Formats: sequence, C-alpha cells, structure tokens
Amino acid sequence: MAAKLSDVVYDVIVVGGGPMGLSAAYQCTAKENKTVIVIEKYTFGNAYGSSPGFGRQFRTCYSERNLCELAIETSPLWDELMEELNEKSLLRRTGVLWFGVGTVETGEGNIDKAVENLRDLQQKYTLLEGKEDILKDERFSFVSQAVNDIDKPKALYLDDGGTINVLALIRSLVKKLKEKETGLLEKANVECIDYSSQYVLKLSVVSDQKQQLIYGKKVIMTPGADVNCLLSTLQPAFTKRINLLIYLWGSTYFKSKKTVDQMPGTQSDSCEWPVWIFFGQPDDSSTEKAQNLNVFYGFPNEKMKSCYAKVAPAFTSSQIFDFELYAPSIENRPLDLNALHFTSAFVEKSMPSLSPTLLEDEFATCLSGFAVLVSGSKTEDDQSAGFVLDFLPGEGINKRLVLYTGGWGMKFVPVIGKILADLTIRGRTDYSKLIEPMNINRGILVEDKDISQTKSGQKQVGLTIS
Ligand SMILES: Cc1cc2nc3c(=O)[nH]c(=O)nc-3n(C[C@H](O)[C@H](O)[C@H](O)COP(=O)(O)OP(=O)(O)OC[C@H]3O[C@@H](n4cnc5c(N)ncnc54)[C@H](O)[C@@H]3O)c2cc1C
Repeated sequence: MAAKLSDVVYDVIVVGGGPMGLSAAYQCTAKENKTVIVIEKYTFGNAYGSSPGFGRQFRTCYSERNLCELAIETSPLWDELMEELNEKSLLRRTGVLWFGVGTVETGEGNIDKAVENLRDLQQKYTLLEGKEDILKDERFSFVSQAVNDIDKPKALYLDDGGTINVLALIRSLVKKLKEKETGLLEKANVECIDYSSQYVLKLSVVSDQKQQLIYGKKVIMTPGADVNCLLSTLQPAFTKRINLLIYLWGSTYFKSKKTVDQMPGTQSDSCEWPVWIFFGQPDDSSTEKAQNLNVFYGFPNEKMKSCYAKVAPAFTSSQIFDFELYAPSIENRPLDLNALHFTSAFVEKSMPSLSPTLLEDEFATCLSGFAVLVSGSKTEDDQSAGFVLDFLPGEGINKRLVLYTGGWGMKFVPVIGKILADLTIRGRTDYSKLIEPMNINRGILVEDKDISQTKSGQKQVGLTIS
C-alpha cells in the first residue's frame, strides 16, 4: 500500500513551486538523491508570482561585482541544465546590449560600473562610445536611435546574454521531478511551519479546504514576493519581516510593421536582436502622478509570436504600484498604463520596425520584490541588488530553514538551486563569498510590531527604483 503523506518524513520540503523552488528540488532530488516534496499554493507555472510570461533576460553584465561573477558562474550551468533536462530551448543566446547614459544609476544597474567589473574579470565585451559609432552599428539599428538626444552615449555589448524561456524551464523541471518521483503538491497553501521539535519540522498545508500535515528534516523557502506571509506562519513565531519593496510592473508586446509574408524566410528580423536595456535620464516633465524614469528593456521575438516584440518599462510610474512588505492581493493589481504610454513613446522614437500602438490584449503585470536596507543600517555598500539567500536566523531553527527571495533572479536559477541544495544538505556552499552580500542579517529585517498595519497588503510606499 502506498504511504500516506503524513507517514513520510521528507529529507527536504520546498515551499514555493516557482522556477527557484523547482530548481532547488531538482538539485536535491536528481543530484543529491534526497526525498523531496514541493508545495505550491497555485499551480506550477502560475501567473500570480514573479514568473509569468515567456521570457526573462540572461546577462553577465552587472554593476555589483559579486553578481557579475555569479552570473559568469551561472552561464555554463545553463548549458548543463539544458543537457540534463534534454531541453535546448531554456536559454537562447542572442547577446545582450546595454546602452544610453553611462553614469545613470537605475534599478537595473549602471553601464560604467558593469564595464569596470567585466574588465576586471577579464570578460569579452564590446564598448562603443559616442553617437556616431553606436548609430552606424547595424546590429543595434533596431533601437539605437534612442541615443540621439544623449550627449556622450555608450553601448556595451556581450555575446553572453539572451532569453530564458521560463515556460520551458518550469515544464522541463516539473517533468524531470515527476520522473524522479518527487512529491509535487499544487493548490496547497503552507499555513504553518512548526519547528518546535528539534527532530522534525511539521508543515500544515491546506488544499481543497482540507488540512494535511507534512513532515520533513529541512525546509527550503522559495515563496517569492509572498515571503513575509510565509514568515508569519512560523511556529514558534518568527517576529521579523524582510523589508521588501514589491513592484507591480507592466509590460507589453508591440507589433512588427512588416507582416511575416514580407520578411525573408518565415521569421521577422527581430528574432536576431539581442536582449537589451536602455538607460536614459529621467524625463524632466515627469509629474507626481506619472514619472518617466526613461529606462526600458526588450527582447527579440519569440517563435510562437513571430510578429511581435516585447518592450517594457524598467520602472513603475507612480507609488501606487509599489508595495511594502506584503504583495497586493490578486484582485488589487492595477495596470501601470502610464508606464506603458511612456514605453510606446520610446518605441515610436527609437524602434523603427515596430508599430508603437498599444495593444490591450498584450498587456501584462508581474510582481517582484527587492529587499532594502532599513534606514540607519550599518551596511554601507549594499552589493545584494535586493536578494536574500541565507539560513533563517533564530533559536531552535538550527540551519534547518533556508530562504531565497528578491532580486532579478531568473538568470541565477541553476546556480541558486544548487546553492539552496548545498546549504540545506551540507550547511555550506562553495559560493559563500559570492552570496555573502545577500545575507539576511545585513540590515533588512524589521520587527513585526512595526508593520502590523500593513498586513492587508494595501499599504503603499513612496519609493520607486531609481
Ligand atoms: C517584470 C519582471 C521582469 C523580470 N525580468 C527579469 C530578467 O530579465 N532577468 C532576471 O534574471 N530576472 C527577472 N525578473 C525576476 C524573476 O522573474 C524572478 O526573480 C523569478 O521569477 C523568481 O522566481 P521564484 O521562483 O523565486 O518566485 P515565483 O515565481 O514568484 O515563485 C514563488 C512561488 O511560491 C508560491 N508560494 C508563495 N507562498 C506560498 C505558500 N505559503 N505555500 C505554497 N506556495 C507558496 C507562489 O505561489 C509562487 O508560485 C523579472 C521579474 C519581473 C516581475
């Protein structure tokens, strides 16, 4: 007779079945031979967390040295993962272009600092300086007119960049986990993580209005932007919360002016574009109601959507799209239409092959959280870019709970999965130097008593990425 869930003590329980949780589960099961269950409150591949949509950018250019190094380490791990999962489409390397104002500081980073890191780490890259060189480079003509009104623009290009196919990543990880007979529990919300026993962790999970108990030796927490809700389920109570700023990003696709029939072969020329980010100066005409930080990013087209290209704002246009600590409920996620209008104006000005018309059917929103230092914190130079990757501190936890949340994380999925497995199973990782800045005690924890009024998920703050 098959064992009931409650009879089993898993080596590892993963809470949160997004790409990061699935990657950690894959490492624990396939590489470490541990018994694992993944618990996901919606479905694998749901659109409610940080991973909806087709693609995310992979890039090794980073302003933070440790993240630049970590991305370089991750690159071959993508190749390994594609081999192991027998899925070649996970990362399509088209190159990455960063261009615009070299010095401007944005939530995506800064061109000059990225160049410095790449140079110090002896990476191959091309740096174009000045309008003339940038505008005459054919490879970038699809978007390079954006530099027209910049004094001394720069363009940084690297071969090692491209599009991560998120749908294929989730699908192939789930398939592999099924083959390995990993427990996969969907539509199951973790409502309590009881660590009072030093021998076993007890999780109370509700699915279909029924409660069940799941036992394990270790827990990997990968709940994305819902991290503070999950922390509030700990028993004995864990009274700290992560000082997380959660942004509700808008994005959209723009239609190519040419139809497929007019293009050579069957694909649009936009399939050859690199992934890109434009770094402009914030627009002076921004108002309190709608600010245009003038930072945009985009992708080449996707096979299934050959006449469209995704272009999106890398900012929210108003504080009403920024949330503190708790993610907004699914019903309370307005679309940042102003930011999409700014994006359309950028497309009109800079992307001659796309029609700037906004297409309602293509609008999407997505949440992502960034851990920020509490004011007065002792850390001066935060190299973490909003990531948290560490053991949960606290008496009685004894390195049995490992947490990941925050940051632009998709590019790191293979390496962070490995690190989470390392920390969980061995209590240490070879990547410790690179993840040190992501530690949880760096000044990002706030006391629960200070934040009790925010639990509805409605409180908004006056911060945007800048
Ligand atoms: C607009 C946008 C653009 C981005 N672009 C890039 C990019 O170009 N490059 C890049 O590297 N990164 C990018 N990112 C970031 C990247 O998408 C995220 O880092 C990544 O999706 C995080 O994956 P995750 O598995 O940690 O979180 P998620 O995908 O959010 O998964 C967390 C899961 O945990 C589940 N969960 C939460 N609480 C519970 C609970 N109590 N019980 C059970 N399950 C629970 C949730 O339902 C969810 O499915 C972008 C993000 C956004 C929003």
